[in-house]
Amino acid sequence: MTDAIVVLNAGSSSLKFSVFAVEDGEINLRLRGQLEGLFTSPKFVGKTADGKVLGEHAWPEGHQLGHEGAMAHLTAFLDAHTEGLEIKAIGHRVVHGGVEFAEPVRLDPATLKRLEAFVPLAPLHQPNNLLPIRLLLESGTKATQVACFDTAFHRDQPLIAQMYALPHEMTAAGIRRYGFHGLSYEFIASVMAQHDERAAKGRTVVFHLGNGASMCAVENGRSVATTMGFTAVDGLPMGTRCGSVDPGVLLYLMDQRGMDARAIEKLIYHRSGLLGMSGISSDCRALEESDERNAKLALDHFCYRAARELASLAATMGGVDAVVFTAGIGENSPTVRAKILEQAAWLGIDLDVEANNCRGFAKISTAASKVNAWVIPTNEELMIARHAWRVVHG
Ligand code: ADP
Repeated sequence: MTDAIVVLNAGSSSLKFSVFAVEDGEINLRLRGQLEGLFTSPKFVGKTADGKVLGEHAWPEGHQLGHEGAMAHLTAFLDAHTEGLEIKAIGHRVVHGGVEFAEPVRLDPATLKRLEAFVPLAPLHQPNNLLPIRLLLESGTKATQVACFDTAFHRDQPLIAQMYALPHEMTAAGIRRYGFHGLSYEFIASVMAQHDERAAKGRTVVFHLGNGASMCAVENGRSVATTMGFTAVDGLPMGTRCGSVDPGVLLYLMDQRGMDARAIEKLIYHRSGLLGMSGISSDCRALEESDERNAKLALDHFCYRAARELASLAATMGGVDAVVFTAGIGENSPTVRAKILEQAAWLGIDLDVEANNCRGFAKISTAASKVNAWVIPTNEELMIARHAWRVVHG
């Protein structure tokens, strides 16, 4: 039997999974897939690592499969397609580890309870992340479950970077910057030396630009500052999230438009960002293809804000040796990368236009550039698998 690791990423309406085999000390992807539309029109697809479909299923419109139904379907799929594999570890993506968890942790009922205490910090994500953990603990699974946190990579940041200028008592009570996308940044930090040894030991700014978007200053492999804060709505504009806004705007909306917390939550998480600015779509591709003035303005503002944050993060490290683009937009949009880096020429970044336009090219700066620019695909699932395996095997 070959040891295997299952990685689960449970969102509000989807459950993504990967299965990795541990072969000669290497962690290799074997299967992946997802269940989506858990409460609307559920769909399942399971594939091999090279994309061959092994299983597909669609439930009727309106069927409420939910997370429990999804876990049951996934368990049956895994039973049927993991012959020769023994699942030793199950790694879960968990959005919040609070101040307490700076490392992945082995899960038992007591630890799960501690993680439930962070639900008020991430009410839209944490409960979904924890549900499969509880179901698997109740099912008496033999595999060791491990929680890997989006916040953990940032816990080493100096206090000065983690605090807000609020009364000290509030910082002590956990009202502080946590930062997110940590598993993505940690993965990039872990492969940086393969691409750019100088930057791996030096100062890098990573752009994680997907539906959710943030940036991180990484010095000698460690996070020193990041754009997201107490919640994942802070920092850059995103697909539907506004990023940083003057808190005075929110007070104004409460006073003058009678908006309550739920209405503001909807506004800042679901109706803003690229969608709100353009009035067209939250999808970067759709905006790039549109001739509408507001589509262009939305993308220009997105890039302007990213370029401003680059300067801010570089300042925390006293300079920058490399920048890295990753995630859906960062990996796939030459337009966005060029728009950001053209505004960063003053930092000594000289974009190689041809390399930038050539998909899959790792280095997108010229040989003369003082700061190297890279496109490096992220792999949060592999990061979780590595962590889970380390927790199980020391
Ligand atoms: P999530 O945060 O949901 O994981 P992703 O990392 O998958 O998001 O990124 C999704 C975003 O990537 C969308 O805005 C999508 O338009 C964008 N994207 C994907 N492919 C391209 C492309 N070829 N050109 C421009 N944008 C792209």
